[in-house]
Amino acid sequence: MTSTTKAPPLYPKSHILAASGVAALLSLALLVFPSREVEAKKTYLNLELDNGAEYAEQQDGLESAASLTRQSPFASTAVTDTSTSDESQAAQVAPPPESDPLHRIVSVENGDTLSTVFAKVGLSATTLHTVLNSSKEAKQLTRLKVGQALEFKLSADGQLESLHSKLSDLESIALTKSDNGFSFKRKLVKPEVQTSYSHGVIKSSLFLSAKRAGLSHSLTMDLANVFGYDIDFAMDIREGDEFELIYEKKVVDGKQVGTGNILSARFTNRGKTYTAVRYTNKQGNSSYYSANGESMRKAFIRTPVDFARISSRFSTGRRHPVLNKIRAHKGVDYAAPRGTPIKAAGDGRIVLAGRHGGYGNAVIIQHGQRYRTLYAHMNGFAKGIRSGGNVKQGQIIGYIGTTGLSTGPHLHYEFQVNGVHVDPLSQKLPMADPIASSEKARFMQLSKPLMAQMDKEKSTMLALNNQR
Ligand SMILES: [Zn+2]
Repeated sequence: MTSTTKAPPLYPKSHILAASGVAALLSLALLVFPSREVEAKKTYLNLELDNGAEYAEQQDGLESAASLTRQSPFASTAVTDTSTSDESQAAQVAPPPESDPLHRIVSVENGDTLSTVFAKVGLSATTLHTVLNSSKEAKQLTRLKVGQALEFKLSADGQLESLHSKLSDLESIALTKSDNGFSFKRKLVKPEVQTSYSHGVIKSSLFLSAKRAGLSHSLTMDLANVFGYDIDFAMDIREGDEFELIYEKKVVDGKQVGTGNILSARFTNRGKTYTAVRYTNKQGNSSYYSANGESMRKAFIRTPVDFARISSRFSTGRRHPVLNKIRAHKGVDYAAPRGTPIKAAGDGRIVLAGRHGGYGNAVIIQHGQRYRTLYAHMNGFAKGIRSGGNVKQGQIIGYIGTTGLSTGPHLHYEFQVNGVHVDPLSQKLPMADPIASSEKARFMQLSKPLMAQMDKEKSTMLALNNQR
């Protein structure tokens, strides 16, 4: 408690090293670390600035991965074949021979509206009106996407019998003529869940190696989160680090449409191997444990920012560019684009959320009796973050900015144990509880085969590589 009430920032914000490198780092960071919300392929761009060749080589995989999500919507039979139970309408939308004039497929083009699409198949404005007024849900037919396929079935006299459209690999909608207008139906496909194995060796970035191994961006984030208590993915990753995992793959008609949970994984970081197994306990709660049942979860996550870059290391003496004095820099700086979310390192109570002298917008969290973390120079606070409130580990508390004594957007992060500043990067973190002894046997029944399977997959893969 006492240390927060003392006079403001004895420590620094921006630093000589940072000052020289910050502009370059930030422009790099902007390319490399888009916000987490920005999924998809763009986030891979320029992750490997130091290796253009490797990047170019990845283009193909990237394209094919992207194309998964905009698969030909014409394959509507895929939906009907695998859809569950009460799909009596299914047969009606299976595409008849192409020559059938009563069956028309229109691909939505730029500028199309439902009205222009209807006109293309010779349907009147009156029909359109009837369709749109047939139900509340039918109105969502007006939300067309370029490339979306609308499949019409017409009666011999050219009247609308049914309309079917696939919105995604897992979802399609259908409109069918009924006694009193049209009935609307949404179909959700339940994908088959299979497991898949991937292995990769890091050459220059986790993301590129993961992509080379066939992992999506979100799966790679999941992998990083699983090991996020042991490995600082902003600082610790080295060339030659290795990962392997078994994960769930969602498949519809032989085609992968998404991924599920990581079931087990191994990550070798700087020669040390960490293991992880996903386990759902008897109460139905899932979390990750090491292969022998130790909890992966710890009281603190290593990096309070996702994949940010550190602009300077912990040190004890440094010229402060703003105060022009040597100050101990009792924290770690993570340079990242303005607006990058900052996460609470652990569960705790917010001692302060507000202006705090040279720290600018700062949050101080008390974790139990011994630990305290501080986050400075924030652009702003996350909703609901205020002094006296509680936070959960990983909860977003604010966003990176450059308020207070700071020369560029970064998070200044401090870690105190019993009121003494320590280097968060070198801290041995307190462990959470291991698996309950009553569930240990059940856990090992799951863990052992998964580890054995990874061993087997890996040796098969290595043997194949050696044959080439
Ligand atoms: Zn700092």
